[in-house]
Amino acid sequence: MRQFAVIGSGPAGFYTVEALAKAYAGTAQIDLIDRLPVPYGLIRFGVAPDHQSIKAVSRRYDKVAEEDAVRFVGNVSVGSDVTIAELRTLYDAVILATGAPRDRALGIPGEELPGVVGSAAFVGWYNGHPDFADLDPLLDGASAAIIGNGNVALDVARILSKTRAEFGGSDIVDHALDALDGSAIRTITLVGRRGPHQIAMTPKELGELGHLEAAVPHADPADFPDSAADAALDPGVRKSVAHLRDFATPHDARKKRIEFDFFAKPVRIEGDGRAERLIVERTSLDAAGASVGTGETYAIPASLVVSCIGYSTPPIDGVRYDEAGGRFANDAGKIEDGLFAVGWARRGPSGTIGTNRPDGYEVADLVAVAFAPGSDGGKAGGDGLDALLASRKVRSTSFADWRRIEAAEAEAARDGAPRAKMVRHEDWLKTLS
Ligand code: NAP
Repeated sequence: MRQFAVIGSGPAGFYTVEALAKAYAGTAQIDLIDRLPVPYGLIRFGVAPDHQSIKAVSRRYDKVAEEDAVRFVGNVSVGSDVTIAELRTLYDAVILATGAPRDRALGIPGEELPGVVGSAAFVGWYNGHPDFADLDPLLDGASAAIIGNGNVALDVARILSKTRAEFGGSDIVDHALDALDGSAIRTITLVGRRGPHQIAMTPKELGELGHLEAAVPHADPADFPDSAADAALDPGVRKSVAHLRDFATPHDARKKRIEFDFFAKPVRIEGDGRAERLIVERTSLDAAGASVGTGETYAIPASLVVSCIGYSTPPIDGVRYDEAGGRFANDAGKIEDGLFAVGWARRGPSGTIGTNRPDGYEVADLVAVAFAPGSDGGKAGGDGLDALLASRKVRSTSFADWRRIEAAEAEAARDGAPRAKMVRHEDWLKTLS
């Protein structure tokens, strides 16, 4: 038997485990280790709570977790409960699927003011991630600024705009639902440092903004190039730009306003003890399509600033790291002999959930070349891990444990909601005691 450990049970981890199980067809044992007691990573904690159809991919992952060759080992933190060096003595190969859960810094003055949060924290808060359960974002002002023109920025704008009724059928956590319901925010400005043709938003997600009950999106026609120029865009971007052009209608004052502010580069955040305004510099594009400041600045009122400018992978002691890319240094997934990276930890935070599937299969192929199926490396694998965890009094969780948590969450769900997520370690572990 070969012994493998995949660290991180988000999409990249699950697809890699699926690929390894197929490649080794009963001749390998695979442990899928997560620092949280529950599986699914980004699917549970990143995908928006009102996008249940995307979250449904976890049903496919369940089949993987229930294979004989696979074990889910939750509540084990690599770095504190067990080190990478220890895992490497226990397993033939260790595959890091740890994602990119850390917010990239804006690097501007005022970033540390109360009222300024990164999207990892904000999204984690409304999605019930235990690290962000107490974030308590400041929703008491009239205006919010969201920095970035990607899909995460869209998620945040939509979540800030929806009514309580529009969250029916979602699994948004109660603490966020109540706080958002009491929010005073009326204007949400989406700040893009480049123009409508340079957005990273996809059409379906952008189209959703046009169907909100109590909020209306608005983009200034003056920010758009002549419509003939849209023909040269990739089809996806062209569709997105068509949605944006539709957002040129006059504002309905009874509704919240989602304003697209293009060609605006964040310069600093100002306020007396908390965020009150975002100062931006007007930009134009150079020949290469990069944003260049014009020297003209102005203020966008914002008592809440959410930066949605991308993520990085936290480094792990002893593992080669690519500082500029914010991910593990790797060559097509290989970090060094017996150590691999996959998903966002390998290539950075881009692509859809599905992008991680070919990625996982590719890395599993590399592993299978290095450790021929049918051979045995004499490694202790899961038995060795269990002994080590027991000696450290670490209570790991199994997939059967997760099923019990899942049943308890389903039972406690609001009417029409799939689950009432437990948010704290103690609640998860209490359910299992
Ligand atoms: P993203 O797509 O890379 O977008 C990041 C945005 O931030 C870009 O508009 C970028 O502008 C801007 N930005 C970067 N640095 C900046 C700075 N210093 N100041 C101002 N703006 C800055 O990242 P994301 O939105 O975090 O999404 C991550 C991945 O998850 C993407 O692949 C996304 O499609 C995916 N996702 C998908 C869904 C969905 O399918 N429903 C939902 C959420 C996320 P420039 O272009 O000028 O660099």
